[in-house]
Amino acid sequence: MKQKSMTITSWGRNRNAEMTALRPERLSAVTAALRQPGVGTGTIAYGDGRNYGDLAMRQNGRVVLTRRLNRILSFEKDTGLVSVEPGVTFRELHSFASERGYLVPVVPGTAFVTLGGGVASDIHGKNQDTQGCLGDHIEWLDLVVASGDVIRVSRSEHPELFSATIGGCGLTGVISAIGLRLRQLKANAVSVEEWRVKDLDSFFDLMHQHRTSSTYTVGWVDALQKGRSLGRGIFQAAEPVFSDGFSPSTSNRKIPFTCPDATLNRASVQAFNSIYYRRVPKNGRSRLVGYEAFHHPLDAISDWNRLYGKSGFFQFQCVLPDESAAIGIRRLLERISGAQAASFLAVLKTFGKEGLGDLSFPRPGVTLSLDIPARGGGREFVESLDALTLDHGGRVYLAKDATLTAERFAMMYPKLDKFRETLSRYDPDCVFDSDLAQRLKIRPTLS
Ligand SMILES: Cc1cc2nc3c(=O)[nH]c(=O)nc-3n(C[C@H](O)[C@H](O)[C@H](O)COP(=O)(O)OP(=O)(O)OC[C@H]3O[C@@H](n4cnc5c(N)ncnc54)[C@H](O)[C@@H]3O)c2cc1C
Repeated sequence: MKQKSMTITSWGRNRNAEMTALRPERLSAVTAALRQPGVGTGTIAYGDGRNYGDLAMRQNGRVVLTRRLNRILSFEKDTGLVSVEPGVTFRELHSFASERGYLVPVVPGTAFVTLGGGVASDIHGKNQDTQGCLGDHIEWLDLVVASGDVIRVSRSEHPELFSATIGGCGLTGVISAIGLRLRQLKANAVSVEEWRVKDLDSFFDLMHQHRTSSTYTVGWVDALQKGRSLGRGIFQAAEPVFSDGFSPSTSNRKIPFTCPDATLNRASVQAFNSIYYRRVPKNGRSRLVGYEAFHHPLDAISDWNRLYGKSGFFQFQCVLPDESAAIGIRRLLERISGAQAASFLAVLKTFGKEGLGDLSFPRPGVTLSLDIPARGGGREFVESLDALTLDHGGRVYLAKDATLTAERFAMMYPKLDKFRETLSRYDPDCVFDSDLAQRLKIRPTLS
């Protein structure tokens, strides 16, 4: 298979790596590439590059681009069990499933993510409280391991490799096929109820009130608000519905070039947040929103990450356990609003279930995510949020992370030793490796 040199850049545009790229169209090309003599260390899979940090790159290593492995392999109409190649995107699978009266059970905030990338980050959606993570709906995975062999892993076959691969950041191998159970439900829209929320206490009240009674919940916080307005925002609770004749409005805009670094400044973000808050009438409202527009609102603006200029941005996402969430989220928002560092609206939502992967991010509690421009002291600022997260017993999401230290990471992820043990058993020579794995000392440092 042809190889070529390529610069791999993260979605946050804060990292890049020079790599040798392989673009297989068949599984056999992946296994052959791994069986070549002298493969060495530093291979990692890449889906659509929608992670914000360094988990799909390894400086001077080899990247397996999976987007052309994009076939739907089989579908059982009665049970909803679908098997797909890893490069199928959530958008493609939704289109296939919805035509047959099914839904993808868990979807991320952008539909460009591939199923392989979704499994490797054990992604969560707006229904995490009731449906858990993507991994909870996976029946089996086919995995090309370091030897070049393909192993089927599931809850009963190689269970330790199954739980290491779900949320495992591509470090166990290249996922070559995914068996996923779809949810039998016909829906083309979402019935949304939304409220203006005046402060953080009211936010927590609404989140807890709806976390198990509504299918989808999500909150948008104006992270620039301080004092009595700290935590001001909008809360949405929603249900999937089928509405005959409903045709969602579709618009698609593109950021045509990388904007100057100062495009997003305090004044422009404040103005945007204020308009966004007032979109919802004082007494709230109910409306029908297109299914995809509800789940993937940012997909309507292509390349929106260019708004942050050449220096890019960080996305910070943490989850704090329920016991410490009220005070911990308050402290995080106080620090963020004090520094006037955040961009646009931040997302606040509850999680109800622990992910099943060794390195899965979700656990019961409250998650906060927001963008921080990288210019100026952006990195140091995000590091201070990482520290505050740890102080409150929380953890940071690896798919978004670019700043965590190995020490903090080890304290946040209690199943790390188990994960390392599985890696050393199936890949003792570190064939699979990434810059994230080096930074967080998941893999031994090799020259
Ligand atoms: C706008 C936006 C919104 C988002 N919203 C959410 C959200 O709501 N919930 C959520 O959980 N996440 C969310 N994310 C994060 C995103 O879901 C993850 O970063 C996801 O892993 C990206 O998948 P990808 O296909 O782009 O893969 P990449 O970014 O290319 O890779 C991500 C990881 O997957 C691994 N990987 C990819 N393919 C394979 C494979 N075939 N085998 C093994 N490993 C593989 C890579 O090695 C890497 O570790 C969002 C990201 C963006 C940009």
